[in-house]
Amino acid sequence: MSEEKKVALITGATRGIGREIALTLAEEGYNIALNYRKANEELETLRKEIEEKGVKCLAVCGDVSNFEEVEKFVKEIISEFGRIDVLVNNAGITKDMLLMRMKKEDFESVVDVNLVGTFNVTKNVISYMMKARSGRIVNISSVVGISGNAGQTNYSASKAGIIGFTKSLAKEVASRNINVNAVAPGFIETNMTEVLKEEIKEEIAKSIPLKRMGKAKDVANLVKFLVSEDSSYITGQVINVDGGMLM
Ligand code: NDP
Repeated sequence: MSEEKKVALITGATRGIGREIALTLAEEGYNIALNYRKANEELETLRKEIEEKGVKCLAVCGDVSNFEEVEKFVKEIISEFGRIDVLVNNAGITKDMLLMRMKKEDFESVVDVNLVGTFNVTKNVISYMMKARSGRIVNISSVVGISGNAGQTNYSASKAGIIGFTKSLAKEVASRNINVNAVAPGFIETNMTEVLKEEIKEEIAKSIPLKRMGKAKDVANLVKFLVSEDSSYITGQVINVDGGMLM
């Protein structure tokens, strides 16, 4: 019965990696709470695609960087499903620029969405997991949160922050049977990387040991593992999915 199904909330799930995670977890039998900021024509298609897998899908609107909006959409999910078992903090943006030219607003907005957004959603969800004495949180970081990247001081700082957040929270909630891990994707084919010139993408692909860009499905498969029973002894980790880019 669908009321007994576990519920997964994925932020920023209208496209790219978030969309693929939502579809993958739906296949695993989770009811899906799909967070989006701007509705697009693909949202309804995605909702239908998810429900065709035999699970429910609730699309909730809200900017993760806005605490009140997050509070509202988390309550909406609870009133619909009564539980949140899995949280994937995926919503993220880039505003790449060398520090010399970066405006304060460009730094702040990236940190606000990527890092503060992760705090906002987790803060609103964690009490339900604590009460249930069970839960899985996966935060989408990035390899550049570990290695750094010229032109991405804002983005790298936000993604490194997510790693610190993940490890600290994992220590806080382990006794409640809540596992918190971070996934660090390398170079994945989505809208975020589409903006790069073709020759730059080819150069990057050549430098990756597995000689290709990753696919959203590569990331979704790792998330699927991290929310499954098979990973119940893994917490506080950062796992790269990057074709060997960073080693
Ligand atoms: P996309 O740009 O394709 O998708 C980002 C998603 O996040 C969109 O659905 C977007 O919604 C949503 N989003 C952005 N800002 C907000 C917000 N304030 N509130 C709610 N949702 C928001 O990116 P990817 O799929 O590539 O990236 C997903 C995650 O993976 C990000 O955290 C990114 O940093 C990370 N990542 C990606 C890599 C890559 O190579 N692609 C590499 C490493 C990490 P909207 O349409 O409304 O803007």
